[in-house]
Amino acid sequence: MADSTPRTPQRLQTKLVHSGDPHPRIEGSGIAPIFRSTIWEYRPEDGYHDVRYPRLSNLPNHVQMGEKLADLEGGEAGLVTASGMAAISATLLSLLGAGDHLLVQHGLYGGTHSLVTDDLVRLGIEHDFVDGNDPGEWKTKLRPSTKVFYAESISNPLLGISDLERIATFSREHNLVSLIDSTFTSPVNFRPIELGFDCVLHSATKYLNGHSDVVAGCVIASTDRVAAIKRKLDHFGGSLDPQAVYLLNRGLKTLALRVGYQSASALEIARFLESHSKVRSVRYPGLESHPDHARAARLFDGYGGMLSFEVGEDADETDGMIARLEIAMASASLGGMETVATRPAATTHAGMSRAERERLGISDGLVRFSVGIEATEDLIDDLQRALD
Ligand SMILES: *Cc1c(COP(=O)(O)O)cnc(C)c1O
Repeated sequence: MADSTPRTPQRLQTKLVHSGDPHPRIEGSGIAPIFRSTIWEYRPEDGYHDVRYPRLSNLPNHVQMGEKLADLEGGEAGLVTASGMAAISATLLSLLGAGDHLLVQHGLYGGTHSLVTDDLVRLGIEHDFVDGNDPGEWKTKLRPSTKVFYAESISNPLLGISDLERIATFSREHNLVSLIDSTFTSPVNFRPIELGFDCVLHSATKYLNGHSDVVAGCVIASTDRVAAIKRKLDHFGGSLDPQAVYLLNRGLKTLALRVGYQSASALEIARFLESHSKVRSVRYPGLESHPDHARAARLFDGYGGMLSFEVGEDADETDGMIARLEIAMASASLGGMETVATRPAATTHAGMSRAERERLGISDGLVRFSVGIEATEDLIDDLQRALD
């Protein structure tokens, strides 16, 4: 049933639809059923590792999804988890213990930032923040106890792209396990394992599911590493409910269509914003004006659906603009079919001090925009109305 190895190599669009499907089909069903049972028959010849139980992420839906995720990212094994943070925390805790140290790129996702700077510190795991573009600094922060380099494919909310090629080679040279949160890129636009990263993490809540109705996460890595991460996940209780695994699989089937459209739409919207007199600056990796545009063009197959821009001098002016949007909803999440806008200084980055935000370049007037799959022209009209 788990044998889903295709006879001939397939492209991503095909894998998104078919990878992980059980062969032979269960009762001939073209869509794999949801296994909800928490009780599974145990045969006399079975060993401890044959015990099936939903929290152990080893029901057919979990196993099929793990294979599919591995196939999409070009890794050996994959593990679906209860959230992006469940994947990130289980991965870090499987690799690090008291006395260990990790390098982390500046500008991390808020939840990961708190995990590293609060929870891990309390467990005796130390860290240093580094500039993702400054290998010289990485070297000075390296300690004998450094075990991990943690990066993100595109930073939030300024859409910066670190020197990811160097991070992968630096990690290899110094025996560090390289981790990358690839949520913003998705395997449609970037497959970090091809670049030499050891572990790829996603908040599947965002693009992978794409329908704004499931919280999930995943990690893709070597078979041994995924087994070690799964042991942590089993103990900390971060398994994903089989019903949600099913929904995630349904969402994944259209990932290439969605992300392709969102990337094209975001580029048009970014160009429109760049030409608008009330917009002070636009950040989108697909724009020639973006500082990391050349790197994005070299590493990514598309520039994604996320952009950010500055309007107004202050919070009130910018909040007013967001409130005037009719299609785009004010929300802090991202990656769904619906366009959403947020002011990071008030939402995703409100936990940071103003000084820290300013140091990173996150002004009070900055808007982060997650482009959905609505008509591009309608989204541009919506922005035009709200800005005028
Ligand atoms: C949302 C997000 C996470 C956390 O994922 P959850 O599914 O909310 O736990 C991690 N990294 C990035 C880049 C995210 O956008």
